[in-house]
Amino acid sequence: MADHYQVLGVSRDASADEIKKAYRKLARELHPDINPEEGDRFKEVTAAYEVLSDPQKRQMYDLGGDPFSSGGFNSAAGFGFGDIVDAFFGGGQRGPRPRTRRGQDALIRIQVSLEEAAFGTTKDLTVDTAVRCSVCQGAGTAQGASIIDCSMCHGRGEIQSVQKSFIGQVMTTRQCPQCNGFGTLNPHPCAECAGDGRVRTRSTITVNIPPGVEGGTRIQMTGQGEVGPGGGPSGDLYVEIIEIAHPVFQRHGDQLHATLKLPVTAAALGANLEVETIDGPQSINVKPGTQSGETVVLRQFGMPRLRGNGRGDLIVHLEVQTPTDLSKEQEELLNQLAQLRGEEKPAANFTEQSTGLFGKLKDAFTGR
Ligand SMILES: [Zn+2]
Ligand SMILES: [Zn+2]
Repeated sequence: MADHYQVLGVSRDASADEIKKAYRKLARELHPDINPEEGDRFKEVTAAYEVLSDPQKRQMYDLGGDPFSSGGFNSAAGFGFGDIVDAFFGGGQRGPRPRTRRGQDALIRIQVSLEEAAFGTTKDLTVDTAVRCSVCQGAGTAQGASIIDCSMCHGRGEIQSVQKSFIGQVMTTRQCPQCNGFGTLNPHPCAECAGDGRVRTRSTITVNIPPGVEGGTRIQMTGQGEVGPGGGPSGDLYVEIIEIAHPVFQRHGDQLHATLKLPVTAAALGANLEVETIDGPQSINVKPGTQSGETVVLRQFGMPRLRGNGRGDLIVHLEVQTPTDLSKEQEELLNQLAQLRGEEKPAANFTEQSTGLFGKLKDAFTGR
């Protein structure tokens, strides 16, 4: 299931009016009467509109919930696919609509830490979903009862009437009010599920999160969505990853970046230091004469790539710290050092663009 906002081509903060306009435009292009081969997209667009046009469902969707866990449950009797089509086209689809349909897909978002994204994990998710009614096995009928043809429309699901008007005879087709377009009736519905063939329940699903996922990754769990009305097949459950920002590491794809502050003495003299990577402690070598902004690359200590395609690097950005709060003795020593290096009065020439900090920054951005 694609993102509803993307399907309609609107932004996440689109107004109700924008959503309606976007749907109208797409529905005109994709309507099965006009464009029969686009039926799947039309359904997708309509499903997206069904959620986003309802403020309550939209809010639930935005929060990562399953908008069909309450309002849409009895959609066969309530506001369903056919109703929206009817609202815009005054006609709707041809023939009776099936009682047995595939269940809705559901989207759930879960938060994952950087370490979990790096090494993979399993998470237990509690979802409100619909499962097959155990009393009627999905049929929706009371024991011994069955679905019968609608006496009003004789199974067609629609009623045609001819009206005389000043332009001549006009034939109109409308949904059968007795069976709501199903063409069939369920005179003795199952008491457990009220005829829907499924019941709401809360269940726990274990999700396997593979190493290398990142924010926006969607894991498809086929058949783990809700069961369809009338014992129809289950929809799919999509789990979307939301990455929690790490206090230390910044992620860019498979690369990790971290900043290491270094006293000026260590930067000048060089040092062997131990840093804490996501794989545990690792020693890095700071060479003598290191400048602020230089980097040390720890190969293969970045994020794994999905499907086991190796790993990225950890890039350690070194930041040389100028000492502050000098004691008398330290000040004395630095003065001596300045004298020894002839730096009591350093040269005050601006640096050429190509070698200065700005040049380097520019290079970093343009990738030179
Ligand atoms: Zn039942
Ligand atoms: Zn009927």
